[in-house]
Amino acid sequence: MNVVTETKLIAPHGGALVDRTGERPADLEQLETLTLTSRELSDLDMIAGGVLSPLEGFMGRDDYESVLETMRLASGLPWALPVSLSVAAAPAGDRVALAGGDGKPYAVLEVDEVYEYDKEHEARQSFRTTDEAHPGVARLCAQKPLYLAGRVTVFERLEPSFPELAKDPAETRAAFSERGWRRVVGFQTRNPIHRAHEYLTKVALETVDGLLVHPLVGETKSDDVPAATRVECYRVLLDGYYPSDRIVLSAFPAAMRYAGPREAIWHALCRKNYGCSHFIVGRDHAGVGDYYGTYDAQLIFDEFEPHELDIEPMFFEHSFWCRTCGSMASAKTCPHDSEQHVFLSGTKVRELLGAGELPPEEFSRPEVAEVLIDAYRT
Ligand SMILES: [Zn+2]
Repeated sequence: MNVVTETKLIAPHGGALVDRTGERPADLEQLETLTLTSRELSDLDMIAGGVLSPLEGFMGRDDYESVLETMRLASGLPWALPVSLSVAAAPAGDRVALAGGDGKPYAVLEVDEVYEYDKEHEARQSFRTTDEAHPGVARLCAQKPLYLAGRVTVFERLEPSFPELAKDPAETRAAFSERGWRRVVGFQTRNPIHRAHEYLTKVALETVDGLLVHPLVGETKSDDVPAATRVECYRVLLDGYYPSDRIVLSAFPAAMRYAGPREAIWHALCRKNYGCSHFIVGRDHAGVGDYYGTYDAQLIFDEFEPHELDIEPMFFEHSFWCRTCGSMASAKTCPHDSEQHVFLSGTKVRELLGAGELPPEEFSRPEVAEVLIDAYRT
């Protein structure tokens, strides 16, 4: 009945896609209701759709501790970041309802375990820092003191911010299969795509069957470019410059954790569940501030045995237009001085766009720049 399982796509992490969607229980009104943060709600919805396979709920202590210490679940399967639900006190019943900030119930959790955790230790292991100026650490510090573990059944999916771009792993897998793809590279971004990233997605696409452009549209820092603007940028870029039969554009619903290297692993494993065999990892993937070294998010992949992750990371350098080469290039492929390279700092780009000026075409496609200029004007 389900064609997805018969394709030659990469297997989901742990072997099978988890589906934790189900019926709204008849006794929902009688259950104690817990209110989730936006990050917890986003994790819940990803569990429901199988993005976090093999997880079927929020992590118990064994998995949690094992992930922090060894980057593996208690079963030994690689996993880089805790997926946990913080609570103020142990619930009285053996089932609880999980609701959003507005009180709307989404799921029921079968209480398995309630345990204490050490925020400072989790911060050090996950984020490599305990500095509360780090957005991930700040969020962790604001959490309630206990973790509640248990399997979830989600009867109400989160309203996606971009319904036309919302695809669960089963749906992206079906889309890849329909196109006859076997090798698919996933590209995660939380920024508009300029020439540099267009270049590396295309270099990657040259070696595989298809490209999943998978922007993160979950919660980000307030100074990132708004998701609606970014989505418009992706549309004009893909329409104008990519062959439509080689790309799938979909949204990645995760909230940013800003855990740098560990988040790169986590992002890769999620994309494996979506059906990607390859994943692009640039410099400073999922980083913030100066907390991580430029190549840490690439180096961390070496902490796993070959084929342990299954999904293949593709590492990239910063790229730029080189006037002498007359093409996009990187330090790996271009021998010329930096004066030959068209480079603009983020600040400079924002200045230009804010003033209504187009950056050089070697830096940004004019269609993309126009969308950003319009966004800055309103
Ligand atoms: Zn050059």
